[in-house]
Amino acid sequence: MSNVLNWQLGREMDYPYDAAYPNQQFAFVFNINRCIGCQTCTMACKSTWTFSKGQEYMWWNNVETKPYGGYPHHWDVKTLGLLEQANPGGQNWGGKPEDLKAPYGKFNGKTIFEAAKTHIGPEGANRALGYLPTDEEWSAPNRYEDHPVGNEKGVKGQYFKGGELLPEHKTWFFYLARICNHCSYPACLAACPRNAIYKRPEDGIVLIDQERCRGYRKCMEACPYKKTMYRGTMRTSEKCIACFPRVEGKDQAGGGLPMQTRCVASCIGHIRLQGLIELNKDGTWKENRQNPIYYLIHVAKVALPLYPQFGTEPNGYYIPPRWVSRPYLRQMFGPGVDDAIEKYSAPDRELLAVLQLFGKNQRICHRYEIKEGPKVFETEVRGKKFVMYNDTVIGYAKDGTKIIETTVEEPLHIRPDKHANSI
Ligand code: SF4
Ligand code: SF4
Repeated sequence: MSNVLNWQLGREMDYPYDAAYPNQQFAFVFNINRCIGCQTCTMACKSTWTFSKGQEYMWWNNVETKPYGGYPHHWDVKTLGLLEQANPGGQNWGGKPEDLKAPYGKFNGKTIFEAAKTHIGPEGANRALGYLPTDEEWSAPNRYEDHPVGNEKGVKGQYFKGGELLPEHKTWFFYLARICNHCSYPACLAACPRNAIYKRPEDGIVLIDQERCRGYRKCMEACPYKKTMYRGTMRTSEKCIACFPRVEGKDQAGGGLPMQTRCVASCIGHIRLQGLIELNKDGTWKENRQNPIYYLIHVAKVALPLYPQFGTEPNGYYIPPRWVSRPYLRQMFGPGVDDAIEKYSAPDRELLAVLQLFGKNQRICHRYEIKEGPKVFETEVRGKKFVMYNDTVIGYAKDGTKIIETTVEEPLHIRPDKHANSI
């Protein structure tokens, strides 16, 4: 085991390999508040990459309804349970988030790599604590869709009264859209006995070499997000490839510029933004305030990693849903949840402008700038002043090409009476 810095945990941790970081890292932000569970992303991915024989149950992108849904069933609860078993009562956060190197404080519990050292399974020691889902658990990927928590029963034909008051609804569910997190310390890679899994130095995308893989499924067992999947017809494991030809700028539609993945570009709700982040030598992010992904995660701090306590340093970040039970969200996204929701509920001028970049262009936005516009609205959001300005936000690709220009206020088009029912 080596000692590596996991900045999401605010400390060093054990990892089976020495630290090695890519020049750039593929990363994304999903805004849960905007997801409508339409599964367009899911189908965009399936129709691009997993439509062949043997891939029928393979969903590299999936959208599950939390808290009950999961693909495979109960993937997160099971791994959390294993960690709790390995370190009873010890999976806690502490420390001061003010420390810039530890934006969420310090995780004092055990990661899946650390817990594996003391928790030996029936077949011996593993490199990461995990479990192999059953075939049944991979089936019915959208089970529990739209199932809320809340013990009061509604009355047929009537809206449920009293369950919907902010800050936390008594009755709630939300859609959690998931792809592989292309982790900085991938558990799948750590566990592979064939060294078939690698992380690309140019963009940090994690891939499985199909020539080397023998389908032992150690990656499936180790990945706490369960994002590698077995294909019986090939006898190998497969996973999300982050649409790497698009990220490399090889998709003709991008005119040679790096493009966002298919699931990101097709998202109906404009909940997704994907980018490439430059890294320092120690794996922390190079300061780049005008990169929208950097801004959302390190400056505004509204987007948080999914289950950072697992220890893989996932590169998928989420703006947490503001109506959901806070203890549930703290477990899922760490101690940054309260501040993130506070900030998102009454966004400042810059945050509101940056949020407009989501879903506006298929190409990757590396830099944004804001041109100030007039004030249009002022109100109070739960005791906090909120002022809206009609600013213009402009997004640029890596080579400086302007790819986005949009305003905070949506333009309103009034159709002429003449052909009111047509476009
Ligand atoms: S999410 Fe799972 S499959 Fe993807 S890189 Fe991380 S450990 Fe590997
Ligand atoms: S396409 Fe977007 S809005 Fe629809 S389910 Fe996927 S992430 Fe949610």
